[in-house]
Amino acid sequence: MKPIYVIKPFIDESDVRAVTDAARNGWGGGARKYIKQFEEDFAKYIGTKYAVASMNGTAALHLALVALGIGKGDEVVVPSLTYISCANVVRYTGAEPSFVDSHPDYWCMDPEKLEESINKKTKAIMPVHVYGHPCDMDKIMKIAKEHDLYILEDCAESHGATYKGRMTGTFGDISCYSFFGNKVLTTGEGGMSNTNDEKLCEDMMKLRTHGVSSLTKSNYEFDRVGYNYRMTNFQAALGSSQLRKIGKVIAKRRKVAQMYKKHLKDNEKITLMPKMKWANPVYWLYTILVDHNENRNRVMEELKKNGIDSRPAFPSIPLQKPYINHKKYVDTYRIAYDIGRKGINLPSSYNLTDADVGRICNIIESVVN
Ligand SMILES: *Cc1c(COP(=O)(O)O)cnc(C)c1O
Repeated sequence: MKPIYVIKPFIDESDVRAVTDAARNGWGGGARKYIKQFEEDFAKYIGTKYAVASMNGTAALHLALVALGIGKGDEVVVPSLTYISCANVVRYTGAEPSFVDSHPDYWCMDPEKLEESINKKTKAIMPVHVYGHPCDMDKIMKIAKEHDLYILEDCAESHGATYKGRMTGTFGDISCYSFFGNKVLTTGEGGMSNTNDEKLCEDMMKLRTHGVSSLTKSNYEFDRVGYNYRMTNFQAALGSSQLRKIGKVIAKRRKVAQMYKKHLKDNEKITLMPKMKWANPVYWLYTILVDHNENRNRVMEELKKNGIDSRPAFPSIPLQKPYINHKKYVDTYRIAYDIGRKGINLPSSYNLTDADVGRICNIIESVVN
């Protein structure tokens, strides 16, 4: 039996040609061309005025927080159920994350609990569209407005997902993307920070190159301490090429979700991935909840024995060592905690067949039943 990965990126000959072209021609002044092109293409796809490319999604988030002026003494509200980057980037700036639990129906941050995590120090909310399902943005935007907070959308798992028909990534002051090898659009490693604000765009572009004084003159003059977070021309060339077929990739993700649903919908020990009425998710990783933690672990072991890769859902971040001072984590962040213990990310690649999904589901059911 061929091994099945959680995600195998969809790379075709046009991608190979794009990267080869960048290797031949993308040097000196030529490198800039590929990066500018990808930024323009990606801003257009999402529907923002600007996009700033960087070397990975974590760098994209960090640039965004620094550009928004967040630092020591500030707090940023981060969901409990997400990738560790979201909390780490807040710490990079000297600020502290404050956590909010998941909504039981759709796993993203619960707007009803959001205000409990907001205080005088809070400067921003970071909604994360977890596993490709959008947050309830109307409710989050309303709270942000009432408390005068920035919104930094983390769309690293939601390229192309929509909320009430509107693209995720168009709500925030800045929205950030990852193009890591397992994301919906990949450049190997890569990131993007989208915004409609010209000043934020310029600041992020300067911060990306050590805090240069001018984006046009290469005169080694600097206004502040920035970073080297640049994207390479290879990544950018691959990004533009990948973007041309993102529609196909997303359509297949949605089809894979239907396949899992068809096979598993009648099993009462399994909770399928949610889909709210107002959401058109992209199912970055198709994720189910198994009735309890031991069964979840047994399912993963059994899949592994059969050459099928899977991942546990994100363990709640307040539970991780750098953040464990959030003492009451289990009760305060109960929903995220449970999802982290019961959830499995199942194979979700472009090349997955209905027969593959059937085989995966048979193994899952043989363990839980
Ligand atoms: C992948 C991911 C990131 C980080 O992206 P990298 O490119 O790996 O640095 C940030 N946030 C979320 C929600 C992610 O899934």
